[in-house]
Amino acid sequence: MLNVRIDLAAFRHNIETIKSLAPDAAILPVIKADGYGHGMIPLAREALGCGVPMLGVGALEEGRTLRREKIAAPALLLDGILPNEAADAVKYRLTPVVFSVDVAKELNRVGKKEGKKIAVHLKFDTGMGRLGFTLRQAVDAILQIGKMRNVHVEGVMTHLASAGDIQSPQTDNQLRRFEGVLEAVKKAGLRPNYIHAANSDAIINYKQAHYGMVRPGIALYGFPSAEVKEAAFKPVMSVTSRLISVKDIPQGEGIGYNATYVTPRNKKVGVVLGGYADGINRLLSNRGVFIVRGRPVPIIGNVCMDMVMVDLSRVPSAAPGDEVVILGGDAPETTAEHWAELAGTIPYEIFCRLGVGPRAQRSYT
Ligand SMILES: *Cc1c(COP(=O)(O)O)cnc(C)c1O
Repeated sequence: MLNVRIDLAAFRHNIETIKSLAPDAAILPVIKADGYGHGMIPLAREALGCGVPMLGVGALEEGRTLRREKIAAPALLLDGILPNEAADAVKYRLTPVVFSVDVAKELNRVGKKEGKKIAVHLKFDTGMGRLGFTLRQAVDAILQIGKMRNVHVEGVMTHLASAGDIQSPQTDNQLRRFEGVLEAVKKAGLRPNYIHAANSDAIINYKQAHYGMVRPGIALYGFPSAEVKEAAFKPVMSVTSRLISVKDIPQGEGIGYNATYVTPRNKKVGVVLGGYADGINRLLSNRGVFIVRGRPVPIIGNVCMDMVMVDLSRVPSAAPGDEVVILGGDAPETTAEHWAELAGTIPYEIFCRLGVGPRAQRSYT
């Protein structure tokens, strides 16, 4: 079992840091994918306590989970919906991101039937190549949807692909295109309450992308990829486990599947509970390092499904039951950034996998 500790004070600190970086913008905290593995519901409550006007989740099912947990605040469905999900989106008072006229039509139909105006945020693809009306579709979509009597264009948005990289011209290009879209929105007589474009990295690197609302995700969990000069974000998740076995293994013995590590001399070897099934990336095999009794203990051999072996040579007093710091704490070896580097990925993926594993036991402080 992995103990996943979530530091809500750090989460609040990170929200306040976003406020100081984007003082004129509303904050839409992005808590999709179970709050990047940190737990969507407790984070939703915490963020609402900090006064955010709206929550950002992914698909319809996540919005329904909020409602099931009696969270009534406005919630934006960032992944959008299909036409056959329109009725449920309305029923659960969720605000879909819309990038299809067909979906807007269906929402308009449901809205008419219920005598309601359905709030939507229109999304435009300014260069991410993912969700959003293309520039070619934009004007027509704005005009068509703008005329729908039971749809209210509450927001207009885009998503930036490379805001962590200030060398790249892509963000400036995307923002220029977005300005064109906003011009068309204005021309059509629409006055959205919220215009938004900035993820965490754009909040830090591109003040001109703040508009009226910002959409931080990873910064709230402590790890934007953009460098922050004026403020520091704090890690929110830390993960520990236990040694289930400690023993001496003689020189020349293989450790783990395929014996990718062979003991160069007699070794004290520990077995840690938790493996790739729990989000400990297999690429950490023979590379990652955990902490036992304040000392770094290198992973030896391949990471298994349920267990990881570590070299306890530097911790002669180690014993079964000892706590093992897997992620977090003060050591540079157990930061999400270091893990991500070793595993050829980004901290986002580390959290999403570690926090939601089948044996993750989350606790909140
Ligand atoms: C996930 C997501 C975000 C948050 O991005 P971060 O890089 O985690 O800050 C913002 N906007 C949209 C549309 C997203 O899907």
